[in-house]
Amino acid sequence: MNIVVVGAQWGDEGKGKIVDYLSSGARCIVRYSGGANAGHTIVSGGVQYALHLVPSGILHTDTTVYLGAGMVIDPEALFGELAMLSGKGISWEGRVFISDRAHIVLPRYRTLDKERDSLRRRPIGTTGRGIGTTYAMKSERDGIRIADLAWKEKMADLEEEDRAFLAPWISRLLEMKVNLTYELWKYKDQRILFEGAQGVLLDLDLGTYPYVSSGFSSAAGAAIGGCIGPRAIDKVVGVFKAYSTRVGNGPMPTEFDENSQSALYRFVRDTGREYGVTTGRPRRCGYLDLVALRYACRSNSIDSLALTHLDVYDTLSEIEACVAYNINGNITEEFPSSVEDLNAAHPVLKTFEGWKSCLKECRSYGDLPDAARTYIEFIEAYCGVPVDIVSVGYDREDTFIRREIWAG
Ligand code: IMP
Ligand code: MG
Repeated sequence: MNIVVVGAQWGDEGKGKIVDYLSSGARCIVRYSGGANAGHTIVSGGVQYALHLVPSGILHTDTTVYLGAGMVIDPEALFGELAMLSGKGISWEGRVFISDRAHIVLPRYRTLDKERDSLRRRPIGTTGRGIGTTYAMKSERDGIRIADLAWKEKMADLEEEDRAFLAPWISRLLEMKVNLTYELWKYKDQRILFEGAQGVLLDLDLGTYPYVSSGFSSAAGAAIGGCIGPRAIDKVVGVFKAYSTRVGNGPMPTEFDENSQSALYRFVRDTGREYGVTTGRPRRCGYLDLVALRYACRSNSIDSLALTHLDVYDTLSEIEACVAYNINGNITEEFPSSVEDLNAAHPVLKTFEGWKSCLKECRSYGDLPDAARTYIEFIEAYCGVPVDIVSVGYDREDTFIRREIWAG
């Protein structure tokens, strides 16, 4: 059985935690898009791990993890991260493999990324990890793939600077390379988890273009970036937070007003620890955007939702969520494709009663207060998708499941 875990908002939904949670039942984990722009935080046994390239399933020592063809890999960042894992006692040797179709990020792509963004009239707010430039080189058909490291003619044609950068990593990368289609075929009767990075609204096609990342972070990207066919995907789990966040620029219809709602803004940011794992930037925060969430569900065939950060709202007496947009006087429940419409959209809010109690100890749906269940059931009804996983705190244990995800 193959499951995809996709971010249903703008990234940072807590995918790392959900992937880690579901990994205990998986034979292998395949990360299918993005690069070191991603930041996944996992807290396990009181130890915090910040991962950027290595799939979050790595913490389960009986799994094998793959960096898929849809990824762009910075060797310096990758081996730095693997060294960090070794330092924390996680043995990864023989468990981490890379698709030979994945592309390599060169240091000068990082510089180019930043330069190009600073020259834009309306900068995107890139993380500066060379992601956009690497994907652009790939589309131009001038990229360097893992497989190319063994292609002597191609390597000889590279600029001296690039060859010098790659030299120390080549043999280690080649040792880790696999032909992913055949590799995953071996496990076709077992459980494979496909781990997304970023989120649907940062997907190159489905997101708020041009304020997006450059890979296919939506569920469909798991097929391309994981070197399997779309019918090999059995289930899609969409992860979302009880509110919205976004890092970088671009439209965010439900963002709190920094002036008139500064206390709420600060409360959510600080309680939710909404600071980027990769860049340390404070994240923009806002109401849960159900218009956007339902769009993510429909455009990604999301079967199951995983709700995270519900505990951030523990102390509020009232909670609001966006159920429609008012765009220049027109009320719509459709997520627009145009940046202009998204910028003009004002949220139509529905108010919910707060639960005003600590959820951290809740270990089943029945443990949740009525008000929290009302919020969840409204989300399910609005999106037409069940909320099957609920996370109420940072630790691996602060999560419960309402319906077995790996079953049928
Ligand atoms: P880039 O992928 O570094 O070029 O960044 C493009 C946009 O996507 C910027 O707004 C980034 O802040 C955002 N972004 C990229 N990766 C992530 C992520 O993993 N989480 C949240 N936002 C991200
Ligand atoms: Mg993140």
